[in-house]
Amino acid sequence: MIPPLARRFVAGESAATALEHARRLNDDGVGVILNLLGEHYEDPERARADADAYCRLAEDAARADLRACLSVKPTQLGLQVGEDTFRENLGRVVNCASAHGVFVWIDMEDHTTTDATLDAFEDHALATDGGVGVCVQANLRRTAGDLERLADLPGKVRLVKGAYDPPTDIAHQEKATVDDVYEDLLEYMFRTFADGIAVGSHDPAMVARAASLHETYGTPHEIQMLMGVREAAQRDLAGQREVWQYVPYGGKWLSYFYRRVSENLGNATFALRALVSG
Ligand code: FAD
Repeated sequence: MIPPLARRFVAGESAATALEHARRLNDDGVGVILNLLGEHYEDPERARADADAYCRLAEDAARADLRACLSVKPTQLGLQVGEDTFRENLGRVVNCASAHGVFVWIDMEDHTTTDATLDAFEDHALATDGGVGVCVQANLRRTAGDLERLADLPGKVRLVKGAYDPPTDIAHQEKATVDDVYEDLLEYMFRTFADGIAVGSHDPAMVARAASLHETYGTPHEIQMLMGVREAAQRDLAGQREVWQYVPYGGKWLSYFYRRVSENLGNATFALRALVSG
């Protein structure tokens, strides 16, 4: 069972609890990005099982008439087993989801996976005429070039700062530099993309920047934040903007919870307070 402390960041162990959470968020005007926790599989059976689970999830979300989409990780769908395995499982998830009108996001993992992830996105973006989205990381030096390639494709692009720690020759290391690059890339997207921009950030400065870029260029966009982070802001923003919450669930919650608490002082303080107050 997931302890209450972790329940802030993870919507339970089963798809049913994640869908209940989705219903409550939808009632508050927030869309839901469902993620079954899992990554770095080296066993093709585990990758296949998670692809099956995503297919069932898409069907259940559609049947419940939820404003929900999926977000999958390449190494969850078998990228470490081989690119063919990843492509096959991703293809299955995208086909099932498309059949139910459910959008599929592809998360971006560490820099060794970027090419395979963008290539797979490109194929599915064209095949589904924009039924998929991909995440790109502002800390990677290559991302400006990747966005030029993505600008010509259908589908959506989520811009994040980057959750991994690539080496200096590949990535900007200073937080202030990453913030500046994020703003520059956001400006490029609002100026160049017709639509399909997702601002994947809790940073009030980036959310405000997106609002002012929207005023300048008129490009539609959505704000995406994680479950358990700035939840009040998510609900407030949903009154004025399109807001989606990334909602992880599943048995592999412990490492995800640890990552959330270790990456941000606010999350760690919340965890400590909850522990002290019993
Ligand atoms: P930060 O730069 O960490 O913080 C900036 C400011 O935001 C803070 O000063 C504070 O004001 C506010 N803030 C941040 N966190 C909190 C908090 N816990 N409580 C209160 N205020 C806070 N990364 C990837 O590499 N690949 C992915 O596929 C990916 N997908 C993502 C999907 C979504 C929907 C989101 C939101 C993030 C995703 N990330 C992904 C993570 C991302 O790369 C960053 O590591 C993470 O979002 C932290 O950066 P930030 O811009 O949110 O804020």
